[in-house]
Amino acid sequence: MTFKHLEPQDYKYLYRITAEPTPLKSNCGELCGSACCRPGQHGDLGMYLFPGEEIMFTRREEWLVWEEHDPGDYDFPASWQGPVYFVRCNGACPREMRPLACRFFPLAPHLHRDGRLQLIYETLELPYRCPLITADNSLDPGFINAVQQAWQIMLVDQRIRDLVEEDSRQREEDELPVVPVFY
Ligand code: SF4
Ligand code: SF4
Repeated sequence: MTFKHLEPQDYKYLYRITAEPTPLKSNCGELCGSACCRPGQHGDLGMYLFPGEEIMFTRREEWLVWEEHDPGDYDFPASWQGPVYFVRCNGACPREMRPLACRFFPLAPHLHRDGRLQLIYETLELPYRCPLITADNSLDPGFINAVQQAWQIMLVDQRIRDLVEEDSRQREEDELPVVPVFY
């Protein structure tokens, strides 16, 4: 596999293919009061952007607060050069602008040792309960396909692949459940 860095046109494409699909055909936010969009008790919940994803924003969005982090201070692979952007939203984004992390949730990529990509339910410890993870709901196939397609593109970027590799090995070390997504 030839590795490259994702370019602005790649992010535009990723945003396009993940724009419409949602985990369920109905609005899953009605199951939980949109738990994953709440800013958290101390307003500190947010998400990291992938390297170069910041090109999709003007940084003047009123619904986003930006922080620049040094990847060396956090748990990022050595291949990540600074800064890394951490964004916190006010819980009411224009849907077409939501970051990739929001578009993929509640799915996460798991890279097996043989290089095989498997989409699984997110195993990160979360400060809220997502019923799509805890209640074994089957997800919309269009959503799963879009997320799968997006990750196949993203894993061509060595930095992102390093992150997914490290997360996958850590998940195995921690003996967290690698539960394939249900169709
Ligand atoms: S927490 Fe889960 S069920 Fe609730 S809005 Fe987020 S993805 Fe949907
Ligand atoms: S950016 Fe939008 S989708 Fe993502 S957590 Fe905030 S409100 Fe929810």
